[in-house]
Amino acid sequence: MLRSILLAMARSEKLKAVVVKLPVTSKVVKRFVSGETIDDCIAAVTKLKQQGRYATIDYLGEDTTNLAQAEASKAACLVLIKRLKEAELTTHVEMSIKLTALGLGLEDGEEVAYRIAKELCDAIVDAGTTLTVDMEDHTATDKTLRVVDRLRETYPWVGTVLQAYLHRTVADAKRYAGVGSRIRLCKGAYSEPPEVAFQGAGEVNAAYIRALRELMRGEGRPMVASHDPKMIQAAMEIALREGRSADSFEFQMLYGIRVEEQQRLANAGYKVTVYVPYGTDWWGYFVRRLAERPANLVFFLRAIPAAIFSR
Ligand SMILES: Cc1cc2nc3c(=O)[nH]c(=O)nc-3n(C[C@H](O)[C@H](O)[C@H](O)COP(=O)(O)OP(=O)(O)OC[C@H]3O[C@@H](n4cnc5c(N)ncnc54)[C@H](O)[C@@H]3O)c2cc1C
Repeated sequence: MLRSILLAMARSEKLKAVVVKLPVTSKVVKRFVSGETIDDCIAAVTKLKQQGRYATIDYLGEDTTNLAQAEASKAACLVLIKRLKEAELTTHVEMSIKLTALGLGLEDGEEVAYRIAKELCDAIVDAGTTLTVDMEDHTATDKTLRVVDRLRETYPWVGTVLQAYLHRTVADAKRYAGVGSRIRLCKGAYSEPPEVAFQGAGEVNAAYIRALRELMRGEGRPMVASHDPKMIQAAMEIALREGRSADSFEFQMLYGIRVEEQQRLANAGYKVTVYVPYGTDWWGYFVRRLAERPANLVFFLRAIPAAIFSR
């Protein structure tokens, strides 16, 4: 219930306008977002590289409402890719994008998002790195996969995300387990109806393991995106059972979440990729992180009176 309310907040422009102005908000946001500028982001990924971790960068933005916005997202990504190349970070850093930021929700959105994503792929291949296409709510799943399939015809290294909570995901995992595929498996962060998604934590965890088995049995590269110790342990065990080496899959976690565990896995010889968001449009991303863990919301709400009285 609380999760659904919070996720509805992620789409509320009115609430966003009020909350982003509270001084306490930026303090809490910094825990999950590397910063608002490219320099903040470069500093964060440089530190990760020094610590033996990798990064996938998300230039924050989603639900673009016009073509100019989609082109602006592309332009910002192109500047970022250039800066990463100049800083010699592209061996340790790849890009993540949401197709709605590139216009997927517009009229003729699939074509627009495909065209812009393809332009980004040209720059990404030139910089020597890769792209993973994020997955959004279930109304975008088929559209996103169709665009990814088209991109993969030219750029087979383009990866995407499957969300274990969707009933369809085990079938999708089978379909995307072939040679060269790069699939990030996560539990899923949106509020989805029971017609399309499992609702309980136990069901979602069981579905995660089923999809993970399919990916590990396959010939692609599973990217195990979870902070859940049970999913991490299961990934290690399934990989061992399927005869996979530690470098044939990787763990992925979000910036600022279970940082010690990220480092422990990296020190143990696993590839750990951290999802590093940056940019000014952090509202939707931030609220999804609050929804995942009530303790984050409590921390945020507790800080509000202190911020008000210290003004
Ligand atoms: C690299 C990466 C990319 C992702 N990309 C997508 C995507 O494209 N589409 C999508 O729908 N979802 C995406 N997600 C989010 C994902 O779907 C989950 O919502 C999120 O990862 C929480 O699920 P969990 O597997 O960590 O398990 P949970 O059961 O939610 O959490 C397990 C433990 O992890 C810690 N934890 C989890 N979340 C938080 C948090 N917000 N704050 C503090 N601690 C926390 C807690 O200790 C918790 O007990 C991504 C996640 C990762 C790691």
